Amino acid sequence: MADNIPFKLAGVMGMPIYQSRSPIIHNHWIKAHGINGAYGHFPVQPDNVEAAVLGLRALGIAGCNITLPHKLAALPLMDVLSPMAQKMGAINCIVVQADGALHGHNNDGFGYIQSLRDINPNWRADAGPIVIVGAGGAARAVIAALIDEGASDIRLVNRTRATAEKLAEGQTAVVQVHEWHERSEALRGAAMLINATSQGMYGQPPLELDLAPLPVTAMVSDLIYIPLETPLLAQAKARGNTTVNGLGMLINQAIPAFEAWFGVRPRATPELNRLLLATF
Ligand code: NDP
Repeated sequence: MADNIPFKLAGVMGMPIYQSRSPIIHNHWIKAHGINGAYGHFPVQPDNVEAAVLGLRALGIAGCNITLPHKLAALPLMDVLSPMAQKMGAINCIVVQADGALHGHNNDGFGYIQSLRDINPNWRADAGPIVIVGAGGAARAVIAALIDEGASDIRLVNRTRATAEKLAEGQTAVVQVHEWHERSEALRGAAMLINATSQGMYGQPPLELDLAPLPVTAMVSDLIYIPLETPLLAQAKARGNTTVNGLGMLINQAIPAFEAWFGVRPRATPELNRLLLATF
């Protein structure tokens, strides 16, 4: 009887939340694998994070993604943290164990690295200097993943220098902070440029950055996925750089989460890409 098949529920917790495309990704995979379950939006105000997170186990929910502004606040509520979540100081995924224990993960870095390898399977973090513009939560996740992959020369620039310095703390052998007004000069000889700011996102002005010193052999990545091609990526593509948008990061970070909740490793397919693209 259908009633006897356990129904698995997962979702994404944040505020605002209804713009999140995660339900499209996970519900596509749930359907594709014939799983008895669903993935929804959980709108949770900052005051309610603790009650909502601790309530996951009482409700028998398989787990959930955690997005802005709760990625830091949810971390101390975990019973166990993955090494990557510890390094990043933030979680984006909770897996509720059979005994009710809450395990916190951060799959953003995995998703990011995989999105680069989807474009260039030979991509290596130690191929040369990597310039990162921006020092928020996404930059923190990306830097931890790059260092984990063997990056040894990261040039970090942020409008607010103090934030970049805080991020570089304890890893200054690899991460050097450059001045905001010298961000274009920092591109000289770089193997890769990453935009981890909100500049260029729908409704925001483009990132102001003169690409002239950047080698055309460098990969240019933008974490933004709305629009898929930011002014930065359009400019980079026009001068011959390989470009990577943020959609691959979004899709790939969902893979290990889905596997942990539903027991099947899903695949990023052109069909899923098309589904997502239709929503932009
Ligand atoms: P945060 O709010 O934590 O950080 C924002 C960053 O943008 C800061 O470095 C901030 O600099 C910078 N910034 C904001 N306004 C300006 C400006 N006018 N000029 C220059 N710099 C500015 O955001 P996140 O780190 O969470 O997200 C950053 C980007 O990454 C967003 O566009 C987000 O959409 C994208 N993202 C994509 C994901 C994906 O799956 N593809 C996942 C997560 C994020 P300052 O410190 O000076 O304020």
